[in-house]
Amino acid sequence: MDELIRFADELGPAKILHVYEPKSGLKAILVVDNVAAGPSIGGIRMAEDVSVEECFRLARAMTLKNISAGLPHGGGKVVIYGDPKMDKTKKEVIMRALANSLRDIKEYVLAPDMGTNEECMAWIHDEEPRVVGKPAELGGIPLDQIGATGWGLFHAIDVTAEHCGLELDGATFVVQGYGAVGRHAAQFLAEKGAVMVGVSDSGGAITNPKGIDIKTLGAVKDRGKGVLQYSQAESIHPEELLAITCDIWIPAARPDVINDNNVSLMQTRIVAQGANIPCTEKAERYLHQKGVYCLPDFIVNAGGVICAATEYRGAGELQAMERIKHTLRSNTREILMRSKERSIPLRMAADEFARERLLKIMATRRWSII
Ligand code: NAD
Repeated sequence: MDELIRFADELGPAKILHVYEPKSGLKAILVVDNVAAGPSIGGIRMAEDVSVEECFRLARAMTLKNISAGLPHGGGKVVIYGDPKMDKTKKEVIMRALANSLRDIKEYVLAPDMGTNEECMAWIHDEEPRVVGKPAELGGIPLDQIGATGWGLFHAIDVTAEHCGLELDGATFVVQGYGAVGRHAAQFLAEKGAVMVGVSDSGGAITNPKGIDIKTLGAVKDRGKGVLQYSQAESIHPEELLAITCDIWIPAARPDVINDNNVSLMQTRIVAQGANIPCTEKAERYLHQKGVYCLPDFIVNAGGVICAATEYRGAGELQAMERIKHTLRSNTREILMRSKERSIPLRMAADEFARERLLKIMATRRWSII
């Protein structure tokens, strides 16, 4: 009990549920953090090294992300203990068992995250319809295919560039993690004339100060190859990516990649957090002191969940993309203004913005989190 109650603060979590079904091998934790704005949305993460603590942190991040984006949803998360590359038949059984275990937990809408995908959501849908991130054939919006999060990230960068007098045409950028988020953000920036001078994936990193061609690299990735197979660039050590001089640096892979040990190497004006928690708190403070605009994850990578919430209401791709554009531009302006007026870090401005909204809505409820 003491172990779990230590997470409790003024916002939540409302529920922590241990789900164990020995016959199927399902072993999971659900954290419903805060439901003042509506049923929680947050993806199902499958990995061997997940924990209750990670689940809570991710659920809290979803609470802040959803309330900032103006969605009628709270934040929640599920972690499943297991190898996401397990045999497909076994994975299907686990997904179906999870759907049945959570059938009566109406405060949580199931969704995909690392280690789960559209097919998993289709299996879940077959057991329990309260799920988003489904295949298009079931009314889902393919958010990674259309680049929902990259689209939002692009608009956050565009607004920040205007704010600090940076012309996107000719601006240089670096992407760490050329996956669904990184690739689409790069494409939208390139359409505005920005030039990608460094990029990495889990296989390695490359640089070319004259520019890396997005189309050619896209074709390499579509063949299932890594960035190292792109021929017109120099291969570098992944850590060197951080030190490339550029205008915009986009972490779109793993947590804590910008940290106390390496943040001083950065030579950029804007860090746009496509990944969740890619920057430690100390590193963010350092960047703020250096005058770098470090755009907080839960504000600027909200495109994916806006898309999921749009799907939940039965609307389509066009509505989702329009809403992402509007929300990301408006929220980025809001935190830039708060940060400028009181010389506070963008993270502090974003936290303040999200908490104000959440506490206001909690005050209108008989019980805030029930
Ligand atoms: P993805 O799996 O499509 O892409 C991740 C990319 O990162 C891959 O190219 C992979 O090779 C690369 N990568 C992995 N480890 C790396 C490392 N150590 N160094 C460099 N590259 C590495 O995942 P995604 O959907 O693009 O998500 C990326 C990040 O963005 C994750 O942190 C995710 O939680 C976050 N995020 C995603 C969405 C979304 O809509 N997909 C929304 C919000 C946040």
